[in-house]
Order: sequence, then structure tokens, then C-alpha cells
Amino acid sequence: MRIEYDVKLDFADVLIRPKRSTLHSRSEVTLDREFRFRHAQTTWRGIPVIAANMDHTGTFAMAEVLAEHHLLTAMDKFIKTEDWVHFAKKHSAVLSSCFFSLGISEHDVEKLHDVMKHVPTIAFICLDVANGYTERFVACLEHIRETYPDKVIMAGNVVTGEMVEELILSGADIVKIGIGPGSVCTTREKTGVGYPQLSAIIECADAAHGLGGQVCADGGCVTGGDVAKAFSAGADFVMLGGMFAGHDECSGEVIDVHGKKFKRFYGMSSTEAMEKHHGSVADYRASEGRSVDVPYRGPVKETIHDVLGGLRSTCTYVGAQRLKELSKRTTFIRVTRQRNESFVHYEVEKEKGG
Ligand code: 5GP
Repeated sequence: MRIEYDVKLDFADVLIRPKRSTLHSRSEVTLDREFRFRHAQTTWRGIPVIAANMDHTGTFAMAEVLAEHHLLTAMDKFIKTEDWVHFAKKHSAVLSSCFFSLGISEHDVEKLHDVMKHVPTIAFICLDVANGYTERFVACLEHIRETYPDKVIMAGNVVTGEMVEELILSGADIVKIGIGPGSVCTTREKTGVGYPQLSAIIECADAAHGLGGQVCADGGCVTGGDVAKAFSAGADFVMLGGMFAGHDECSGEVIDVHGKKFKRFYGMSSTEAMEKHHGSVADYRASEGRSVDVPYRGPVKETIHDVLGGLRSTCTYVGAQRLKELSKRTTFIRVTRQRNESFVHYEVEKEKGG
């Protein structure tokens, strides 16, 4: 047993120090980024925010709206081949903003081949497991890279530099970072495993950029400020589950509880998800996710504007005209308090449910 005594940080442990700036207005800031991917050798341009591949947020309706705003959607891995085919006939342009998501089971890989045969214009593949440290995961990534040399492959999740390097060398263009920070994740409670997300992003981005790869910060963003901190820490992409939950474009019905409106949101390793997709929780494993009812929030367009507006403002505070410059212009300061919460309990309810 060893102990590392370096303090590792979360979003809540820091603030971004303002800097002199020549920018006059937030409207001068561009959030578009252009990436050329290490293996796929393709180029993508857009705003690098991705809706999580959870069945609540990774929907076709979400993909349509996010694509209009030049954002990306990692689709739920349980979407059927025929639904992909049907969507592709109607909305072919959106496919260049979609990730096909899969795990490493044989069934998942067969479905990838089947969907890619019918809908070859899906641009991105998201190879997603809770624990990206296994040899089996690396072998699966190598196989997918060999089969799809020109698709952009995002693989994860990991939280340490040496594994980021291994995944990039094994075929990942983008490595997804995060173990345990998610809003409906209980991994840290159940297993004691995890890594504070801000430090994970900083360390993993450094490792990836050294090899010409990218990282996607996945999980733990609760506010627009957290999204800004993730980019400031060096994330090339940021994935959001909880922040995109509860909207019209999410799956599930609006539920009325004592006159307030909610939508059900659950972790993909929760009992609810396992019962829905696999019939039951296998007896050798524990659920590592929770089910929550989140306040209903109307169309996701307003949340997108809010997050992107906040991000433009962050860039203005540090003098970054482009999102690309944000991490270079960031100095984090260690803090013991984030915000003044004296009136939080008296807030006039903004949610559509209230
Ligand atoms: P959020 O943005 O809600 O904080 O985090 C979203 C991320 O949480 C997802 O992209 C995924 O990586 C992770 N996640 C989703 N469901 C579960 C789950 O049931 N258990 C765990 N450990 N992580 C989950």
C-alpha cells in the first residue's frame, strides 16, 4: 500500500483568476474549435460540448437541437439499428454530430458493425466502460480502430496519464476522463475508487496533448462555471449528463409531484437502468448509479444559451478571444468558499416545474 500526499482538486476547490483583457464584449469570443484527429485524420469544427450517452440525454431529439447549435451528442447505446436507419433517412446532416456508443460486449461490437453498415456517415464512435483500465477494453479498442480507421474514436473512462497514453497509442483519438464524479454515480460510495475531476483533467490533458490526442472531461459539471473550469483545466471536450437532464428533448415523461413537474434521470449502472436494459442486476455486481427525479426544465435550447453565455463570459474575464486560448490564460486559485449562499433558500423558483 502507498499513499500519495499531493492534494488533488475538484471544481469546487478553485476559482479562475481574472486577467487584464483587450476584449470589449462577450460577443467577440468564439467558442468554436477545430480539431484534427490523431488516428482518424479527419477534421471537425464546432463547440466541443457533448450530451452524455445516457438513455435520458443521448436521444435523437437532443442530437437535433445540439447539432443546430454546433454541439455534439453521444447517443444512448441501446438505440436499435432500425431506429438509427429511420433517423438517418430524415436527418442525415445530424449524423456528423453523433457518437455511436457501445460497451465491449460481443453484442455491442456486432451492433456497431450492423449500424455502421446501414448508416456509414455516423462520424464518431464512443467506446465507453466504467473502468477503462482492463486489457479486454484495450483489445476491443484496437479491434475497433483496425476496423474503422477513419472514424473518430473516443474511449474511456480513465483518470490517469499513463492510461490516457496507452489508449491513445491503442487507437483512441479522444480519451474520456472521469471515474466517480457524475451526478447520478455512486461508484465512490460503493467502491472507494475515484480521482478529483479537476486534477484528473489537468493531468490527463497533459498526457494526451503530448501525443497529439484530445481529452473529454466527463462528469461532475453542475454549473456553467464548472464547464468553464473543465475547459480551463485543458479539456478539449466536455460531456454533460445532469446539466442536460430534465428537458423536453430527454427521454421519459414529465411527472407531476404535488403540483411540481419532474423527469426521471438515472445512472446507466443504476438498478433502474440494469432492470430496464438487462432485465435485472446480475448477482455478482452492485448497482453503481442512482435514480433521481430532476425538475422539468423545458427546451434544452435555453440551457445551451446559458452554458455558452457563461463560457463566453469566462473567456472575457481572462482575455481569451477563442475557447482554445482559455487554458493558456487560466490561473486557478485555491479557495475555501465558492459563492455567497445567504439567499439561496429564498430564490424565486425558475424551473418550469415550479
Ligand atoms: P454528470 O454530467 O451527470 O455529472 O455525469 C455524466 C456522466 O456520469 C456520464 O457521462 C457517465 O460517465 C457517468 N455515469 C452515468 N451513469 C452512471 C452510473 O450509473 N454510474 C457511474 N459510476 N457513472 C455514471
